[in-house]
Amino acid sequence: MNERTAIEALDAADPLRRLRDEFVIDDDAVYLDGNSLGRLPRVTAARVARAVEDEWGRELVGGWDHWIDLPGAVGDDLGRHFLGAATGQVLVADSTTVNLYKLAAAALDANPDRTTVVTDEDNFPTDRYVLAGLAQQRGVDLRLISTDPVHGADVDALQAAVDDTTALVCLSLVAFKSAALADMRAVNDIAHAYGALTLWDLSHAAGAVPIALDVDDADLAVGCTYKYLNAGPGAPAYLYVRREHRELRSPIWGWFAQRDQFAMGPVHEPVDGIGRFATGTPPVPGLIAVREGVRLLASAGIGPLREKSVALTDLLIERVDERLTGLGFAVATPRDPARRGGHVALAHPEASLIGPAVRTSARVVADVRPPDRLRLGPAAAYTRFVDVWDAIERIHDLVASGQHLGGAGPGRIP
Ligand SMILES: *Cc1c(COP(=O)(O)O)cnc(C)c1O
Repeated sequence: MNERTAIEALDAADPLRRLRDEFVIDDDAVYLDGNSLGRLPRVTAARVARAVEDEWGRELVGGWDHWIDLPGAVGDDLGRHFLGAATGQVLVADSTTVNLYKLAAAALDANPDRTTVVTDEDNFPTDRYVLAGLAQQRGVDLRLISTDPVHGADVDALQAAVDDTTALVCLSLVAFKSAALADMRAVNDIAHAYGALTLWDLSHAAGAVPIALDVDDADLAVGCTYKYLNAGPGAPAYLYVRREHRELRSPIWGWFAQRDQFAMGPVHEPVDGIGRFATGTPPVPGLIAVREGVRLLASAGIGPLREKSVALTDLLIERVDERLTGLGFAVATPRDPARRGGHVALAHPEASLIGPAVRTSARVVADVRPPDRLRLGPAAAYTRFVDVWDAIERIHDLVASGQHLGGAGPGRIP
């Protein structure tokens, strides 16, 4: 039995192996970018087409009788299966960026005497930009704590940065570059000790790692649905507001948050509950794609998905150690599976050349993040163990040949 045959046996024994058949896969590339854009579930293609033809096409404006409930209903499903959030606290709406703005602004408005916001210097760009903009508009300070490039935001640094002037602490649960997994409970406890609220960005976490917003005492959260949740490009994002904070007020006074919306009265009076964070007309085909993506992954369950994800990333790291370290690669993700999310970052000085070259010449779809990271995201729902094996072999062969340098001849062969 050669080594690849042993890996095929892992796939044969994988309890989730049939889930792959539920996705549209008609290429021979190894797709390791499901942490950026998840694959298309077959059921989503069918249900969205049917919704467009039958619901929009035939029901026309009458469709709003049932479409109107989608943002809250899909939010409840998502909350129950993947966020650890009881009913009535999750809404599917807008983009992650817009939701982050709404919740951060609401938190600042609720604490007008507090003058600082804390995030980490390597948080996802949109988070840093939105918080910087809000800080400037409201005259508060944005404190950026230092981030370890492999292990993520440092709890000691956080402890030192938060004090009784802090209105809000905003972090990503899984760091987009390193995949470092934050300790949600510990961060919430630090913030709460000073009376600050927490706002979690779950974009790289939902559908990949178990999340317990209610139990871990999180205040607010946002995230996107097109990564591990497979809802498609530009599908609507979600927001979570803990039940105790339902008096918070969105800075966007949209008509979909209005009590007695169709009375169209002169004064904005937001509904009670999570609907007060709605803005305008929801994107119905996108909501249906979120619903189907969530249902499909929920049929597997986050426990088995996480278990397979850890096995995939363990194998990936093992293969990198064996085949790629001699070619200048270094693992830039925590090796302890309990401290990482669903992807693995590799550092290599030529990463910006390797990423495009492996895609075009080696049929491995990965992506590059500055300054020198190659990200490999083996989504548990549809990535096989042999895919991980093949990807590392292909990357090895390409980089060993020096092909990524533009055919400049042999590179560093171990
Ligand atoms: C992908 C991602 C986003 C995306 O935000 P959009 O508004 O959908 O563009 C935001 N935050 C994090 C941490 C992400 O990983």
